[in-house]
Amino acid sequence: MNSTILSKVEKIKSDSDYLAGEIASQLNNSESFFEENEIQLLKFHGTYQQFDRDTATKLKKKGLEKEFSFMIRTRIPGGVLNFQQYIELDNLANEFSDSSLRITTRQTFQFHGVLKKNLKKTISNISKMLLTTYGACGDVVRNVTTIAAPIKDKIHEQLRKDALEISSNFIPSSSSYGQIWINGDKYEYKKEEKLYGKCYLPRKFKIGITIPEDNSVDVLTNDIAIFLIHKDNKVLGYNIAIGGGLGMTHNKPETFPYLAKPVLFCEVNDLKKVLEEIIKIQRDYGDRTNRKHARLKYLVAEKGASWFKEKIEKQLKVRFDAPKQINDLKIVDHLGWHEQGDGKWYIGIFIPSGRIKDNKNFKIKSGLKDIIKTFKTSVILSTDQNIFLGEIKEQDKKIIDKILEKNLIVNKISKINRWFLACPALPTCGLALAEAERVRDDLVDKIDQILSKHKLANEKISIRITGCPNGCARPYAGDIGIVGRTPNNYSLFTGGDFEGSRLSSKILDKISYQHLTTALEQIFLLFKKQRNENEGLGDFCNRIGKDLQFKKLKEVLDDKVQ
Ligand code: SF4
Repeated sequence: MNSTILSKVEKIKSDSDYLAGEIASQLNNSESFFEENEIQLLKFHGTYQQFDRDTATKLKKKGLEKEFSFMIRTRIPGGVLNFQQYIELDNLANEFSDSSLRITTRQTFQFHGVLKKNLKKTISNISKMLLTTYGACGDVVRNVTTIAAPIKDKIHEQLRKDALEISSNFIPSSSSYGQIWINGDKYEYKKEEKLYGKCYLPRKFKIGITIPEDNSVDVLTNDIAIFLIHKDNKVLGYNIAIGGGLGMTHNKPETFPYLAKPVLFCEVNDLKKVLEEIIKIQRDYGDRTNRKHARLKYLVAEKGASWFKEKIEKQLKVRFDAPKQINDLKIVDHLGWHEQGDGKWYIGIFIPSGRIKDNKNFKIKSGLKDIIKTFKTSVILSTDQNIFLGEIKEQDKKIIDKILEKNLIVNKISKINRWFLACPALPTCGLALAEAERVRDDLVDKIDQILSKHKLANEKISIRITGCPNGCARPYAGDIGIVGRTPNNYSLFTGGDFEGSRLSSKILDKISYQHLTTALEQIFLLFKKQRNENEGLGDFCNRIGKDLQFKKLKEVLDDKVQ
């Protein structure tokens, strides 16, 4: 540990009796909210206290309390659900939340707008489905991600198995969760955390696993990025990279996004031990004095990957090989119909912003439930917030297409729409500085028009928008990142790549929402005029550099950009 002056959250964790705190008593009081310490602890239990930021100021002026509600996040390793679980989650959303189910960029479902009086019922019902919310947030290993497409071959099945095992290995073990949310004192008492200890990790910790041929999970943005290495349909072992993480703070250069750096190759039987050692290093050496500097990436940036390798080898008394050479990363688009490998089919369905809900025009929620219930499909959530339904017979495909059509769930979307990610931001996220999900469709429409006008509509470009620099929708890992700066203003990032192997650079510190599309149009025009053959937008922006882009934007937008 770097200093004895620990951050406030460290004390809250350490005094919490393994995540119990006063949650149980405050759950039963008449208030609609929890106190500050419990708000921190609740995250480990998979829930965030939020309030409606649209109404907060008005209510305050009237001397009224904010409208508090809770976001509940499930833990669904690899995003895999069975049809009964999906239906139960859908029912639960109708009963206790704003009725939507939101697919997150970590392959989980979030419920929004749950009132405090319904928290316990919602969480205990989730546990009855053999799912949990434990460790979906908080300073622990969170949901483990992998390729969503339910491909039935040895390699993809191994990925799903690994994601499940890793997630189970590192779920917190204190009985506080069971006692608070499930069956009180009858729950077996176990107040210990062999791996985490009573202070858990210094910060959230993410693990993703994939194969180099398909980086649809943006694996390098994880604290631990695992590449399964295979040959002739045999698993040879795993390349381990460490230190990915996208959160940063505006105007604090000591905070930065980072992609995971390769550290070693391990054989199949060593995977669990190696992961455990990396987690222990972060537990023991991660910065517990400053939460903005507490992710594993800062330790990796400061100490270097070889320092980690030596420590792991010393602890395990094993010499590990250097990571195997891998080909350039690729992204596979799994949407639409595909044969899953055993004669049955799966379909990848596009869900804008991952929000499964019905409205006047689109009946995404009813349509999906109808299909899942009727055909008893498997359900898999993806890290780009889409949904996959598997185990479908050839003869059922046409009926499913009809249901999708009837409910206006279509897969005919523009390329920009397909790869556009947005985080929830306002009005629920307490950290949001600007809009994201609520401006997504407007932005997609405007960008579509610009690209069509310049005959660029067929380009594969990934754009991600977030309401703050925390980076939940991975804005620095795609071609273009739009990051909330202040209300109605954004920072603009370009020069990452579509495959998620390079981070983007900030070209504008501040631009208003109104001028954002003008700025993007200038970038697209530069791209059109000066690109090399087959060059992607991110590669182009990276090649010409940020100064040239800034100069061009300044020429056109003058003092409207900074
Ligand atoms: S990126 Fe920021 S605004 Fe968006 S959900 Fe995450 S924390 Fe909230």
